[in-house]
Amino acid sequence: MSCELLEKLQQAVADVEAQLKVDASKDNIEKLRIAFLGRNGLFPALSKEMGGVPKELKKDVGIAFNSSRKAIEEALENAKNAFAVKEEAANALDVTLNGREWEIGHKHPISIMIDECVNTFRRMGFIVAEGPEVEDVYHNFDALNTPKDHPSRDEGDTFYFADGRLLRTQTSPVQIRVMESQEPPIRIVAPGRCFRRDTPDATHGMNFHQIEGLYIDKNVSLADLKSVLQQFAHEVFGEKVSIRLRPHFFPFTEPSVEYDFSCIMCGGKGCNVCKNSGYIEIAGAGMVDPNVLRNVGLDPEIWSGFAFGLGIERLAMLRYRIGDIRYLYENDVRFLEQF
Ligand SMILES: [Zn+2]
Repeated sequence: MSCELLEKLQQAVADVEAQLKVDASKDNIEKLRIAFLGRNGLFPALSKEMGGVPKELKKDVGIAFNSSRKAIEEALENAKNAFAVKEEAANALDVTLNGREWEIGHKHPISIMIDECVNTFRRMGFIVAEGPEVEDVYHNFDALNTPKDHPSRDEGDTFYFADGRLLRTQTSPVQIRVMESQEPPIRIVAPGRCFRRDTPDATHGMNFHQIEGLYIDKNVSLADLKSVLQQFAHEVFGEKVSIRLRPHFFPFTEPSVEYDFSCIMCGGKGCNVCKNSGYIEIAGAGMVDPNVLRNVGLDPEIWSGFAFGLGIERLAMLRYRIGDIRYLYENDVRFLEQF
């Protein structure tokens, strides 16, 4: 009886050593540990057989049991250490391993469009200006000659904070801040994020990007504005694109225009994108209103200037033929990978 148990213990040690010789991988070491030393393994089972050992042999068998278990523990521990050393050496030195592939990301289409606009205007002598996204009512509305009862001031259209400040609804307050702090001549473009309480649909989002331009100097005319916009259209959408100005009204410019590009899709012949008109509405512009100049301490008899705005999302959608503005904000990599 006792001899049988002793044989089993010796056999267990021999088995572990033999199996480690065949496979000393991390997985196999763990498998052996569970099979021999684990809660439902061989050793707990054998310890139950100790009860049947005659009294006079108990001490010797007990010693044999403990030393066998220790021998197996040590064999597994040594194998584990040897494997770790081998693995480290392989990782450090094996130049035949395949290289690790890096997934390099790229710019978002909105960022691509902003960079392209900024670079185009830079070549025409404009520099980039920035301002806060959290604005005060003065810079966002009052200084821009927005009437007190203008609907854009409404809480239904603008996000207000409890202290009366707001999330800017346009990048125009940057123009005011620049005119307040710098002497003309001024030639800036202000790219940035704006916020309006729109219900998101295919062409509207609650946050969007604009880039606005401002040029203040002596004897600036509408012809200068038109040539800058024409040049921009050529550089960003190609030599064949022409522009068209239509009379409009904005509180901060006088006269004000809306400007269109000849249709980028059909070249002006008429298609469903331009609704057969041959033109695509781009944004608003105009000569800076004398009231706005007075608000920043400039004499409208001496200084004149123009301002224009562009919607970045709109440009990106035209450029990349994206049908729904929401794709730009869903961060679906399958969509973004295309640009
Ligand atoms: Zn068209």
